[in-house]
Amino acid sequence: MNWKISGGRLWDGETSQTTAQTVDLYVASGEIAGIGAPPGGGPWQEIELPAGSAVMPGLIDAHVHLDLDPTLMAPDAQFVPTRQDRDLRMVARARAMVRAGITTARDLGGGEWRELALRDAIAAGQIPGPRLLCAGQPVTVPKGHCHFWGGVAKDAAAQARVIERQIEQGVDWVKVMATGGVFTKGSAVDRAQFDQHEITAMVTQASAHGRSVAAHCHGVQGIRFAAQAGVRTVEHCSFAGPAGFGSAFDPAAVRELAHSGTWVSPTVNEGWSRRIEKDGRETDFHLRMRAVFGALREAGVPLIASTDAGIPGVHHHRLAYALPAFAHYVGWSPLEVLQSATRDAARALELDDQVGVLKPGAAADLMVVSKDPLKDLSVLESPQLVIAAGRLVHQTFSERSAWVQS
Ligand SMILES: [Zn+2]
Repeated sequence: MNWKISGGRLWDGETSQTTAQTVDLYVASGEIAGIGAPPGGGPWQEIELPAGSAVMPGLIDAHVHLDLDPTLMAPDAQFVPTRQDRDLRMVARARAMVRAGITTARDLGGGEWRELALRDAIAAGQIPGPRLLCAGQPVTVPKGHCHFWGGVAKDAAAQARVIERQIEQGVDWVKVMATGGVFTKGSAVDRAQFDQHEITAMVTQASAHGRSVAAHCHGVQGIRFAAQAGVRTVEHCSFAGPAGFGSAFDPAAVRELAHSGTWVSPTVNEGWSRRIEKDGRETDFHLRMRAVFGALREAGVPLIASTDAGIPGVHHHRLAYALPAFAHYVGWSPLEVLQSATRDAARALELDDQVGVLKPGAAADLMVVSKDPLKDLSVLESPQLVIAAGRLVHQTFSERSAWVQS
């Protein structure tokens, strides 16, 4: 379908302002064909937007788990529903995400590569959903974080076999559990699961197959090993110690992250906004995590938006609700947090110039909101229109459209 979207002001993912005037945007063959002047071709089906609307790039969530049901509290419960039931729910989650304006997401782990099949069905246009990048089974240690997904390896040879298996299944990324995690009983968040040599070998192997590595890291030792090994993204980066998130903060590790050019995807979900105060007092969690993110920002470590959707209570389509919390903890303006969820996330995920920006030749992944998003992030919560890979997947206003030649 060829679209001409008219009547909206434009924020392209890069510039510091939304255009003062309305700008026409043309979509053809799944791409942005032109902005402003008609690109030739056509005819175009025109969608005239309600007054005051703004057009912006679709959002990117850099860390989700499509196969996880966020209403289930224990990992074991995930495997109880039938396969068919789980498939249907996963499809529903993908649809809810894209209708909420999330047009790209990176899936950082599942046990059966089912999210890869979903990725392919979405890409083929069979199911509405975000463009997905998938990591399959994360590499972990016996009884380690998310061992129930099957990526367990007890030594370097076994680690190599786990990665080999993911490549054969067609993953886009490799995920390594560099430390223990919160939701796996018996694994310790502050302890490294692999030594330096092992993580470096895994990054080298992934890279030989053209894959980048995302490392799950809470404790400082895992963060340092991952940065040193050259992983592309560090997930969480919570500096978790025995006293919780942010209690083992280490400025040297921040310098190493900055030096290695590692992206950090800190998985801030909307629940973080409820952890700022308790009984009228600022929480320790809030003080510590503001210090962690402030230090990362000051050191120039690039941060991208992510939620870890799928873990208990974190719903897949709620990235828009998490972004104000993310901005608050990092100390960012609306512009900065929006860039972290569009242009910057695209760069971290090696999709630069394809998604996260609106420019001719980029994918037609866009959303329309009722007002300038740089002035009010809450408009992201209810997009008026979403186009993903050139397909109209969501529209709230009644269409006034006509076929036009230019
Ligand atoms: Zn995760």
